[in-house]
Amino acid sequence: MTGVVVQKFGGSSLANESLIRNVARFIRDRRQRDNALVVAVSAMGDTTDELLALAQRLAGETQPHARESDALISTGELVSASLMAITLRGLGVPAISLSGRQAGIRTDTTHGAARIAQIQTDRIVEEIGNGNVVIVAGFQGLTPTDDTTTLGRGASDLTAVALAAALSASVCEVYTDVDGIFTADPNLVPSARVLAHIGYEEMLEMASLGAKMNPRSIEVAAANDVTLRILSSFNHDSEGTTISSSPPEGVDMEINRPVTAVTTDRNIGRIVLRGMSDRPGVAAAVMKPLAEAGISVDVIVQNVSREGSASMSFTVSAANLTHAADVVRERSDVQYDDVIAEGGFAKVSIVGTGMVNAPGYAAQMFKALADANVNIEMITTSEIRITCIVKQTDLSAAANALHESFGLAANQ
Ligand code: ASP
Ligand code: MG
Repeated sequence: MTGVVVQKFGGSSLANESLIRNVARFIRDRRQRDNALVVAVSAMGDTTDELLALAQRLAGETQPHARESDALISTGELVSASLMAITLRGLGVPAISLSGRQAGIRTDTTHGAARIAQIQTDRIVEEIGNGNVVIVAGFQGLTPTDDTTTLGRGASDLTAVALAAALSASVCEVYTDVDGIFTADPNLVPSARVLAHIGYEEMLEMASLGAKMNPRSIEVAAANDVTLRILSSFNHDSEGTTISSSPPEGVDMEINRPVTAVTTDRNIGRIVLRGMSDRPGVAAAVMKPLAEAGISVDVIVQNVSREGSASMSFTVSAANLTHAADVVRERSDVQYDDVIAEGGFAKVSIVGTGMVNAPGYAAQMFKALADANVNIEMITTSEIRITCIVKQTDLSAAANALHESFGLAANQ
């Protein structure tokens, strides 16, 4: 279907009656321009967290049963979808709510993290044809054996993007509680500004900046070339950020901008194993039990050994630090002198596709940090990102220095 517009409204945009009313009025006005509107909604406010906590309390010592947990938490989106349709009808706008099942969203059987297999769009197309604004409950689908699944936390975004792909929508607009994707965290870097455009790859590296999009939704958007617009539900003057493979017409290409953004993560812990035996298999022996414990390890550095012994350092999120150190001490089958677990670190990265195959940006980054008197503890890179681990107390100085050095500030 051509000319379909998919919109998605997150939980914070639907947290109470008056917010739902505002969104409904906004949809009503929008419908005068685009009459084929499909709207994916999240659960109101913190509903999903509350339902999960309730299930956990009632399950006692056990984990809530996965199928039942999905049956439960999928209801949050059903509530907001039907409330939105009711509100729109109250405003005189023909609207219909559809559950994931009714919207034809078919998934595999992985409860809690189901993958969308296909979307049978007949019903949606029919309802658009009937003149309805179609409100789809996000975050959910149906297995081949007719059980309800959920798609993973924050995955109403994924519902919206998958609908946009299946309906060949002209755009998928994601309405959230911030103005778009920023060049840096505005709470840390006062000169941060909203980016007009970024590519999919960059967006995947920037999960922490402003709108937190579900990463799988970005992957699906990239694979199907869905143009995403991240917009504020509260500030309709903001142009937001377009995420697509190439910048839309009229938006500055910013070709000379190698670095798109500075990303930060304030809560990083580091584990150092000193005096490890240096033989094949030790790194695997350290990492395997961590992986089994579900702890993701980020920056890993192994130092050149002296007289047959090496040291290895790696970072984990601060919340996992103690657990990770215990796992290494108790379950890894390697010899070492000691394990040191230290908190108080942070991560700062520069991200940009313009850095691919262009040397010199690492040097510029290290120089900017040195000039700001920030000591670099660890370094790691990907094709479009360079990351330094620094002391938490240096994070603000580091982020501001990099934002400035790479010309990202508003008035540069
Ligand atoms: N309500 C779900 C969650 O909280 C899905 C979403 O918000 O996108 O994870
Ligand atoms: Mg969300």
